[in-house]
Amino acid sequence: MYAPLQRILLVEPDDDDARIIGLALTGEAGGRREVERVRDLEAALHRLREADFEVLLLSERAAGDLRAVHRVVEMEPRLAVVMLAEEEDSRRHGEWVHAGVQEVLAKGHANGPTLARVLQYAHERKRTEEVLRTNQMILEARIEDRTRHLQRLNERLREEIRQREEVERELRRESAFIATVLDTVSALVMVVDRQGRIHEVNRALVELCGYSRDDLRGRPCWDPLAREEDRAAIEALLEAVVQRGEDPPQGLEMPLLTQGGQVRLIRWDSAVLRDEGGQVEYVVACGSDVTEQHRAKERERRRLLELAQASRLSTMGEMAAEIAHELNQPLSAIANYARAGVMLLRRGEVDPQGLARAFEEIATQAQRGGEVIRRLRQFVGKAELARVPCEINALVEEMRRLIEIEARWNQVRLEIEPAADLPPVFADRILVEQVILNLARNAIEAMSEVAPRRRRLVLRTGRDHDDMIFVEVRDSGPGMSPERMAQIFDRFFTTKEQGMGIGLSICRSIAESHGGRLTVESRPGEGACFRFLLPVWRGDG
Ligand code: ADP
Repeated sequence: MYAPLQRILLVEPDDDDARIIGLALTGEAGGRREVERVRDLEAALHRLREADFEVLLLSERAAGDLRAVHRVVEMEPRLAVVMLAEEEDSRRHGEWVHAGVQEVLAKGHANGPTLARVLQYAHERKRTEEVLRTNQMILEARIEDRTRHLQRLNERLREEIRQREEVERELRRESAFIATVLDTVSALVMVVDRQGRIHEVNRALVELCGYSRDDLRGRPCWDPLAREEDRAAIEALLEAVVQRGEDPPQGLEMPLLTQGGQVRLIRWDSAVLRDEGGQVEYVVACGSDVTEQHRAKERERRRLLELAQASRLSTMGEMAAEIAHELNQPLSAIANYARAGVMLLRRGEVDPQGLARAFEEIATQAQRGGEVIRRLRQFVGKAELARVPCEINALVEEMRRLIEIEARWNQVRLEIEPAADLPPVFADRILVEQVILNLARNAIEAMSEVAPRRRRLVLRTGRDHDDMIFVEVRDSGPGMSPERMAQIFDRFFTTKEQGMGIGLSICRSIAESHGGRLTVESRPGEGACFRFLLPVWRGDG
C-alpha cells in the first residue's frame, strides 16, 4: 500500500548494528530498498551532496548533539530523517523532533516491519511537509506578488490624490483670480441660469443696484432688477437663447431698476456657457451704465433740433421775398376775378356761368396760396419731431413747391429724378426735408455766378449699395476746390456776404444723427454734387 522507499542512507558507527539494521531493512518484504551505510555524520553529509536519498537513518551515536542534527535538516530540506535512539527517552525524542527529525525509534524496537513502517511514515510525512512547504512558498510568493500589486495601486492612488489636490488648489487659485478680476472691473457682470435666476453678480453691479449678493442670488433677474413692463421682453430673450439656440444679444440696452427705485440704462453684451452636452447652462451678461451717455445724446439731439428749427426760421426769413411774390400771384388773381365779378353784377349783366367760373378760379387760387402757407407752417412749426418710416421720394415731392419758388425766382431749371421701388427710411420728416431744401438753396445760390441758361438743378434719389438710400443735389454752378470742400462743413464757414455758415454743418449733423452721411463731390468749374445718405429701414426701429 505504500510506495517503496528507494534509497536510504544509514549513519551507524557500529558495524554490528549497521549489519543488523541493514538486514532488517532489506529483509523486510514488500519494499525495494537500497541501503547505503556511512559511519559518521560528516561522511553522510558528503554523500548527501553527491547522491539523492529519500531517508537518512541516523543512529544516535553518530548524530552528536542537536545542533548537528538541525544542520543536516537545514541543509537537506527534502530528506526524511529518522533517528535510531539507543534507548526510550521521550524527552530526548521530543528534542530531536523539535530539531526537525521526522521519527525517533529506539534501537530495541527496530525490527524489520517496525523499521519499514517508521521509514515509510517518515518519508510520507516528509513528502507531505514538502508539499505543504511548496504550497506555502507559492502562497507566500502570491502574497508577495499581491502585496507588490497593492503597493503599486496604493502609489498610483496617492499620485492621483496628489494630482487631484493640485488641480483643486489650481481651481481655487483660478476662481479666486476670476473673482478678483470680476470684482475689480468696472463693467457690470451678471450670470443667470437657464431659468433666468441670478447665479452670480460682481461688485460693480452690487454697488450700482444697491442689493447685496445674497439678496440677488437665486432670484429671477427681472424680479428685483427690471421694471415690470420689461419683464416679458427679458423672458422672451432668454427663451430665444436657451430654448431656440439663438445667439445671445449684443449691445442690448435695457433699463435697470435699483433698490432705491432709480432707473439706469444699461447696455448689455452677453455670451452663453454650455454644459458637456452642448445645452446652455448659464448666460453671462456684461454691461455698462450708459445712462449719462444716453442723456448727453438726448441733450445733443435737442440742441440739434433747436438749431435746425432756428435755421428753418432763418431760411424762411431769407425766402420771405420769394414767398411773398409767390403768394402775390394767387392773391392778385383772386382780386382780379372778384373785381370782374363785381363789375358784371353792377352792370346788371348777370351771367351765372361766368360768375361760377370766376368763383371757381377764386377758390383754386385761394387753395394754391393756402397750400404754400400750409407747407411753410409745417416746415417751421415747432412740433415735437419723431422718427417714422417714410418714403424719400415723398419727402422730395413735399419740398418741390418751395424749391420751385426759389428756382423760378433765380431762373434755374429744376429737374427731379425719383428712383422707383425705393425701400423706406426711418427718419424725422421735417429734418430730412430741411436738408433737401438747404442743399437745393445752396445750389441755386451758387449758380447765380453762371449765366441763367446754364443754371440747372437736378434732384435725384437712388439706392447706394444695399443698405443706403440717397438724395443727390447736383448743380451746374462754379464748383469748389478741394481746399474749399474741406472747409464747407465747418460751423460758421461761409463765403456769402449775408451767410451764417451753419447750414451744411446742421445738415451733416442731421444726416449723422440718422445713422447716415452727407458727402460732396465737386471740381472747380464743373458744379457740385451733394449726396445725402440714409440707412434703409429694416423694420426694427
Ligand atoms: P452758408 O450758406 O450760410 O454760407 P452753408 O454751411 O450752407 O452756409 O455753406 C457753407 C459754404 O459752402 C457756402 O458759403 C459756400 O461757399 C459753400 N457751398 C455750399 N454749397 C455749395 C455749392 N452747391 N456750390 C459751391 N459752393 C457751395
